[in-house]
Amino acid sequence: MRFHVFGAICALGIAGHASAAEDVDALVGAMLGDTPIISDLQTLTDQIGGRVTGSPSSKAAVDWARARFEQAGVSAKIEQFEMPSQWQELAVSATVSGDHTFTPRVIAKPFSAGADQLSAPLLDAGPGTKDDFARLGDAARNAWVLIESPLLTDEIGLNGLFAEYSDAAHSEALAFAAGAAGVVFMSSRPNNLLYRLPLFSGKDRLPLLLMERESATRAQRLLRAGKSLSLTATIEVDSGYAYQSANVIGEIRGNSRPNEIILIGAHLDSHDLGTGALDNGANASMMIDIARQITRLGLKPARTIRFALWNGEEQGFVGSWRYTQQHQDELDNHVMAASFDIGTGRILGFFTGGMDNLGALIDEYLQPVAGLGPFQQVNVPLVGTDNFDFMMEGVPNLIAVQADANYASNYHASSDTFEKVDQQQLKLNSAIAAAVIWGFANAEERLPRFSREQIEELVNSTDLEAQMRHFGVWEGWANGERGRRP
Ligand SMILES: [Zn+2]
Repeated sequence: MRFHVFGAICALGIAGHASAAEDVDALVGAMLGDTPIISDLQTLTDQIGGRVTGSPSSKAAVDWARARFEQAGVSAKIEQFEMPSQWQELAVSATVSGDHTFTPRVIAKPFSAGADQLSAPLLDAGPGTKDDFARLGDAARNAWVLIESPLLTDEIGLNGLFAEYSDAAHSEALAFAAGAAGVVFMSSRPNNLLYRLPLFSGKDRLPLLLMERESATRAQRLLRAGKSLSLTATIEVDSGYAYQSANVIGEIRGNSRPNEIILIGAHLDSHDLGTGALDNGANASMMIDIARQITRLGLKPARTIRFALWNGEEQGFVGSWRYTQQHQDELDNHVMAASFDIGTGRILGFFTGGMDNLGALIDEYLQPVAGLGPFQQVNVPLVGTDNFDFMMEGVPNLIAVQADANYASNYHASSDTFEKVDQQQLKLNSAIAAAVIWGFANAEERLPRFSREQIEELVNSTDLEAQMRHFGVWEGWANGERGRRP
């Protein structure tokens, strides 16, 4: 799949800025110098803490972020939006009984149904494939099914995370079809680590637990040794109603093309188990710091640069979706929308969302930071963060490709805390991001927005549908709620 965008690169005749090269060098130098990016991140994670959209700490983070923009001399707005559906765990507990009794640590999977002292046989459903459910047959009806997960290590990284999302969605659908009472997923990570991996599986949801790996493997061994076990679980959730949240949008107005917008964003929200340092406090702090250094140096971009701190990302990229709705009239003028959301591994390049010619522009804008490379652009459309609605609206969009580093092992987990951040690499990444943003904000050329037909062709010629289904956003596209109108 590659599009040939004939005449796509429009020369806009922006007057050449005599000191453009000096500006970008000054900006890169400032990003690499002494800035508050690390202390901001420490405040956000240690003091505000985990920031689930809709929670009091999420509201505190919004106020803090706006204040940090304003203290840096950057104008910033809070843009309210509606979250379609609350889901928060209030309390959860589980006991294994039968031939052996023990109390495993569990959490509810995000978007799990509630359960009140739900007691049922616990069955070994292997990896939860079609064959596994065929083997269980009628026995699965009204039982808890235990699904094993392969061990996720940093060596396996993001591919393992993506497989876990898709395997869980598949198994849950099979469990639902088999009439299971609930699903117990084995934690893919050792040492009692629990994490919130959302399961966006549509309306018919079962009670869904994640059990720490050590207890889940113990239960599985006992079952395979012919022991009989039951599970009794209570899952209390607060769910099902709409509520208000907000994005924070900082802005540096363009000097000569103020109506054309470069948008860079990172999500401010996190899950509740850790403090959202790698995901995504580090990159949220980076957005503020880039805006701060541009302002401090008195640099004047040709185009307007917006710095978006999104909410609702962890629940279906809702904040950035709402932005595309609220700013629908401006989308033709959005020259680029970039997302940073893969922790603090080295930036290796950018995913360019299936838009030919975008990669060549980035290659050029990365020249001032070539020493921090090498870089390679990857022209595939990727679902999984806040580029999504920009992509489906046809706006040129990027996601920073980053080294997996320690992202996967701490993903959405209680271990995602400040000390996991690679501070030096975060500084280097901020210089890389600033150079790319500055390039887009000042270059003569720009790419046009994709038409509805081009977006449909992108969907039809790639694995976008499967990706969208795994993240629970297919329906919104299919029913016309999301994406560019025909
Ligand atoms: Zn994230």
